[in-house]
Amino acid sequence: MKRAQEQNDSGNAGMLDWWKGKTLSCPAHLRARLERAVDDRHYREARFLAVLGVAITLVSLSVDLVTIPEHFALVAVLRLSVTLPFLVAVLAMPRKRLALQKLFLGAGLTAVSLTLLFASGFAPPPADAFMAMGVALMLGLTLPLLPFRRRGVLLFIAAVFVPAGFLVIYQQKVDGHAVTFLLILTLVATAAGILARRMRWLERRTILFALEAEDHVRELRMKNERLTELSTQDPLTGLANRRHASEVFQRHYSDESSSDGRRAALLMIDIDHFKAFNDDWGHQAGDDCLRAVAEQLRVTAETHGGLAARFGGEEFVVFLSVAGIREAKSVAEDVRMAIERLEMPRADHDAIAICTTSVGIAVREGKGFPDMRSLLGRADVALYRAKAAGRNRCVLAA
Ligand code: GH3
Ligand code: MG
Ligand code: MG
Repeated sequence: MKRAQEQNDSGNAGMLDWWKGKTLSCPAHLRARLERAVDDRHYREARFLAVLGVAITLVSLSVDLVTIPEHFALVAVLRLSVTLPFLVAVLAMPRKRLALQKLFLGAGLTAVSLTLLFASGFAPPPADAFMAMGVALMLGLTLPLLPFRRRGVLLFIAAVFVPAGFLVIYQQKVDGHAVTFLLILTLVATAAGILARRMRWLERRTILFALEAEDHVRELRMKNERLTELSTQDPLTGLANRRHASEVFQRHYSDESSSDGRRAALLMIDIDHFKAFNDDWGHQAGDDCLRAVAEQLRVTAETHGGLAARFGGEEFVVFLSVAGIREAKSVAEDVRMAIERLEMPRADHDAIAICTTSVGIAVREGKGFPDMRSLLGRADVALYRAKAAGRNRCVLAA
């Protein structure tokens, strides 16, 4: 039931909902943003209309010059002095004075309309009728653009209408047909007022939809980032997983400048007797050990500008760019010793667990793009030899 109502509000709103000012079903967390976005737009529209008002004020002087040259000076001074200060103030006003800005905009545009109407009183027929109609047309076109809510629209109509009525009756506009002109003005103002209200309501709805879409896009982007992270990262250790490591390897070594004439090296690291470690200390301790080893590898890799990845189980790789075999061996030895020194206290066993690793080292021979499969294959053979030779050691691939 509630959902049906919401759908009705945001989608097929009732015929007159927009007029009654029925608020759109705006989620609470969007309400403040909606008001801010509406205000931002109103601020920009007020400035646009002020520029339009200034333009009309200046251009209309040329019409006066042609139609009522003998009253031009009076009309020009009056129009410029009552119109421009308001409109220029609108342009100068900062965003935080929005309410005052709207008031000045209303006053400025009312002044434009009334001074145009006043000038038309001096024109001979039929020019006076054309000018008066021009004012009505201008009001009809501008009103729906005004950045006012319902009260503002009604206030603006009254502000134009009441003095215009006095002026029209006083000057017996359109060949003495004051009533006819007032009726036309009423019709135009009513239609434009209704249109203005409708436009504002549609504006709110459009902004609301845009905000909702923005939120959905942000949510999707976050989910997407999380998915990418999950697909590239090993959840236990936070290191790059095997698939992602291959991608980074390709990217890293395709970029000639990053290797800077150095040679690609690959360390393959495997924890010794890890099955026994699990059996002795428990699976949970095994996981902790994997995390500690991973962290050590991450730090070492970072120090040497390389990348560590978990290749599977208790097996890791580190990609490096080295000056030569000696550097590769030295890094491998650093890694091995650092891990050997890791102490993993086990509260439940009242003891400290340690582990060792065997490392296979492969360094790229010759020039050109390194072949990852070949490096991996060679490091794997070296690792196997390290295990066969008694573990806890580093062996360089042939
Ligand atoms: P070796 O010195 O020859 O490498 O012996 P090993 O026992 O380390 O090698 P083996 O391949 O026989 O056993 C690997 C063990 O690693 C078996 C498996 O239970 C354990 N292991 C693999 N992945 C995980 C994990 O995510 N968590 C824990 N706790 N253990 C794991
Ligand atoms: Mg092992
Ligand atoms: Mg293994």
